[in-house]
Amino acid sequence: MKNETYKKLIVANWKMNPSSAKEAEELSGTVQREVRGLKNVEIVLCPPFPYLSVVGALAKGAQSCHWEQKGAYTGAVSPAMLKDMGCEYVIVGHSERKQYFGETDEIINKKVKAALKAGLKVVLCIGEDTRDSFDSKGHWTHELDPKLKEQIIGAFEGVKKSNIQNIVVAYEPVWAIGTGNPATPDDVLSAKIFIRKILSNLYDRKEADKVRVLYGGSTNKKNSAVFIKEGQADGLLVGGASLDSDEFVEMVKSIYENS
Ligand code: PEP
Repeated sequence: MKNETYKKLIVANWKMNPSSAKEAEELSGTVQREVRGLKNVEIVLCPPFPYLSVVGALAKGAQSCHWEQKGAYTGAVSPAMLKDMGCEYVIVGHSERKQYFGETDEIINKKVKAALKAGLKVVLCIGEDTRDSFDSKGHWTHELDPKLKEQIIGAFEGVKKSNIQNIVVAYEPVWAIGTGNPATPDDVLSAKIFIRKILSNLYDRKEADKVRVLYGGSTNKKNSAVFIKEGQADGLLVGGASLDSDEFVEMVKSIYENS
């Protein structure tokens, strides 16, 4: 795969944390202070909705959105509102949204299209549930697992070629999220090649190569750089480790130094 020159993207998914606005402000403030000057990395903080305003100079992202821009959908937040709040990104299709909120590939597709329509960039999460698609030689392979392909085709359904570079695909194997058991750099590289191959078939090679592919799942300051260097990930989607400012800042610095 040719060397890609755009900035590495590091997306912090705080999930339903921390428990107070004061802690959110402290976390965001420390990260902003410590990463100032690291020009070749793009950092996006995705706090819960009520804390979106604590993200100052860094790019702002939301963890989810609705598929309509307004209306009678009690408790929901629309992509248009997020854009108005200064968000640049929204995470769509996270496995926890599927597990706890019943999100299907169809809902994910509606959200992707609504987010793009509102002018947001999408961090689209995809990933298989288990690591059990082995070939005859016992090698694990994405080619044998229909899940990833289905998720990609489902999410991109009806998305125009001119818009696909506004989607960042985060390869997040469910078995690696929050388990302390990350994928290997080889897994990440093969997922990236596989994702780009499906997108080239759906669109074309030139456009598919513009879609950034992140890795997410049990990343930390010790293992981050290897996913970038050996796994050729275009960045990381970080869950648990993004709540510890020292850990997260170290991760950003190791990516900065290794990209
Ligand atoms: C996530 O939930 O997107 C994630 C990558 O979590 P963690 O880093 O905690 O595995």
